[in-house]
Amino acid sequence: MASSLVSSSVRDSSHSSSGEIHLFVGPMFAGKTTSLLRRIKSEADSGRNVAMLKSSKDNRYAIDSVVTHDGIKFPCWALPDLMLFKDKYGHEAYEKLDVIGIDEAQFFEDLYDFCCKAADEDGKIVIVAGLDGDYLRRSFGSVLHIIPIADTVTKLTARCELCGKRAFFTLRKTEETQTELIGGADLYMPVCRRHYVSGQVVEAAKSVLESQNVKSDSLLEGTSVV
Ligand SMILES: [Zn+2]
Repeated sequence: MASSLVSSSVRDSSHSSSGEIHLFVGPMFAGKTTSLLRRIKSEADSGRNVAMLKSSKDNRYAIDSVVTHDGIKFPCWALPDLMLFKDKYGHEAYEKLDVIGIDEAQFFEDLYDFCCKAADEDGKIVIVAGLDGDYLRRSFGSVLHIIPIADTVTKLTARCELCGKRAFFTLRKTEETQTELIGGADLYMPVCRRHYVSGQVVEAAKSVLESQNVKSDSLLEGTSVV
């Protein structure tokens, strides 16, 4: 009897609704934002309170909405840091939220802490979409850091722009070398492994790789957005 009392009081002290974290990764043009929006819309359609968050660094499309490459739109909050969200949204409104979507998650440095708190402590369902790797296939931002705390991880693929096979990587078309160079099809294309490797053999890319090996740490920390 005593033990059942203890376990029920332990259960009561935790949050009534249990949180979840779901992660969509993949190269550019793999439909990450589309998958995220589809999920958020279906949660909203089933009567749950939802909010979409994206980085204010990415202003390629409307600042107050998430837009997929094929033009589907959803209203959202553009923030420099995720931890600002609760204050901006209002604490009371935040309490009533069921589902939080996060797009372009690679741009948020506080992704791990935010997801941890939202799912573990606040009982939210958090759905995250972001690039797993940058154009040099290095881990991008904190996206991979949340795999250990995620319920599910889905790697989506695009179509290789050169041969039409499944594309896992993002190839940068220019010689710009900063990690966070925001752009679309003008700057990037999805490629298969073979075409990623052959694309990287371009002389300019080779020199980029060499310089990145030397100063990758300082580059990552000092990166600014253009
Ligand atoms: Zn290919």
